[in-house]
Amino acid sequence: MNGKTVMTCIEAAHATLKEHTDEITVLDQQIGDGDHIFNLLRGVDALLAMRAEIEAAAFAPALDLAASKLLSTVGGSSGPLLYSLLHGMAKASADSVDAPSLVDAARVFAAGVDAVAQRGKAGIGSKTMMDVLIPVASRFAELADNNASPEAVLDALPQVAEASMLATRDMLATKGRASFLGERSRGHIDPGARSSQLMIGAICARLAQDRD
Ligand code: ADP
Ligand code: MG
Repeated sequence: MNGKTVMTCIEAAHATLKEHTDEITVLDQQIGDGDHIFNLLRGVDALLAMRAEIEAAAFAPALDLAASKLLSTVGGSSGPLLYSLLHGMAKASADSVDAPSLVDAARVFAAGVDAVAQRGKAGIGSKTMMDVLIPVASRFAELADNNASPEAVLDALPQVAEASMLATRDMLATKGRASFLGERSRGHIDPGARSSQLMIGAICARLAQDRD
């Protein structure tokens, strides 16, 4: 894994966010202020514009370059949270090897998710992106610990992400802008959960395809 891997993931994220722009706009209009997808796209577009720099870097520095750029471009609640995710992953993979084990990769992802939890102070059940990130990190660790194949992991994680994203529909929002709506936040999927799930699904699909 290196800067090229990071760029491949950014491209996959970009494609799915573009494809689902209207849908995510509606989700954030229902329980937020409608800007979530535009915040994300501003950030991801800025990352695409620094392709050469990211691709030339090793894995951890590439993640850190992307993290800093997202912090300065995304804004909203999600900008600092995405920064924490990528910066937390970079810190945990500081002396990573080119081909880390799945156990290492799961540990790096979990470190990123922990950093988001520390920043946003949201756990499971608050109706945020954490409702996708935490179950995915747990399942990733569990599969890696059980010696699952990379193919099995790349197949399983999008399914966990999707079920977790759907589960936010019935939750009461207790964090972020949606919490201002109280009971009226129920019945709508959280936009950050949806965007996170889409990015995880697209990245796994792309990495699986590249292994073929
Ligand atoms: P804002 O709400 O400031 O307009 P965005 O629209 O960019 O920010 O992002 C909204 C998303 O951020 C929500 O859908 C939710 O998933 C996520 N979010 C908000 N607050 C938190 C938090 N404390 N922890 C984790 N995620 C959060
Ligand atoms: Mg918003």
